[in-house]
Amino acid sequence: MPEPTQITVPPHLLPSDGRFGCGPSKVRDAQVRALVEAGTSVLGTSHRQAPVKSLVRRIRSGLTDLFDAPEGYEVVLGNGGSSAFWDVATLCLVRERAQHAAFGEFGAKFATATTRAPFLEPSQVVTAPPGSVALPELADGVDVYAWPHNETSTGAMAPVRRVPGSREQGALTLVDATSGAGALPVDLAETDVYYFAPQKVFGSDGGLWVAILSPDAVARLEEIESGDRWVPEFLSLQAALTNSRLDQTLNTPSVSTLVTFAEQVDWLNEQGGLAWSSARSATSARTLYAWAESREWATPFVTRPEDRSTVVGTVDLDESIDATQVIAALRANGILDVFPYRKLGRNQLRIGMFPAIEPTDVELLTQSIDFVVDALA
Ligand SMILES: *Cc1c(COP(=O)(O)O)cnc(C)c1O
Repeated sequence: MPEPTQITVPPHLLPSDGRFGCGPSKVRDAQVRALVEAGTSVLGTSHRQAPVKSLVRRIRSGLTDLFDAPEGYEVVLGNGGSSAFWDVATLCLVRERAQHAAFGEFGAKFATATTRAPFLEPSQVVTAPPGSVALPELADGVDVYAWPHNETSTGAMAPVRRVPGSREQGALTLVDATSGAGALPVDLAETDVYYFAPQKVFGSDGGLWVAILSPDAVARLEEIESGDRWVPEFLSLQAALTNSRLDQTLNTPSVSTLVTFAEQVDWLNEQGGLAWSSARSATSARTLYAWAESREWATPFVTRPEDRSTVVGTVDLDESIDATQVIAALRANGILDVFPYRKLGRNQLRIGMFPAIEPTDVELLTQSIDFVVDALA
């Protein structure tokens, strides 16, 4: 058997861009050019002045358009990424008890955050094994229902629909859309908080969180933050909201992240918005899953076709093929980051299919994998 790194994939089988990671993910050339152009006018200037504030405004209004946000919904930004937002939500949005649906690492992490909070009642957690989807269920005493739109660790996507009866109960719906936002269809009226970070679909860098809040979510944070609970200022959603309304962040943001983020939001809107991006990712996903189903040695990891993510594809390989060798051979040929989520521990490939990635490149990727598997045999 050849050394994986000695395998040379013929150039005509190689994708035009080798970045298939699930975050950070492919940054388009136009985003990098925007960064260069921002050079002396925006980079290295104050985030309290017009040039940077107008970037934040572009992002906020661009996202409002992209998601066709209902009247009264507000786009809020803060530093710290989606992981920080779990703590923000635990402190500022959960009144007494949260219920989570968890079917992978990310859903479980938010559940852990609220479970550990000493000022909350024990969280309810509805679980399903990796590769499937769990959904929350109406329960007494719950004031927040939470689940991921797309579970990046397993490649399963979930519907975004309020739990029937949850509104009447006065509960909020929080959806972690970190890897789905901008490439999966969504009706924001079915959520109170749709939150994400820009290093996945938006091809920007990590370190920022974005949350689109309904008026009910704003009322909840105001209720909680005016009460007895101690909320550190850095984790205050009220502070983030106040600053966002002025097109600012509480503390200094990464300006370059804002530049590449704004560029991608504009690009998605110019191309045709969420309908366009969702269709583009769905095209890539059809190619990937049809290929996996047609190979004897490959199987889509997510069992039910309707649960298979159109942005993060997971494909199990037969045990006769060592996925780490396939991944090493691909990497030696410039195809990067197709490893599975580390804690899932499967003989698997995981492939980003975000809108920045050309559907034809996903097709070529499958041909490159075929070549490598053949060469390793
Ligand atoms: C990547 C990811 C996160 C973590 O995002 P950070 O910005 O790195 O904290 C959370 N949830 C989901 C669904 C993700 O894909």
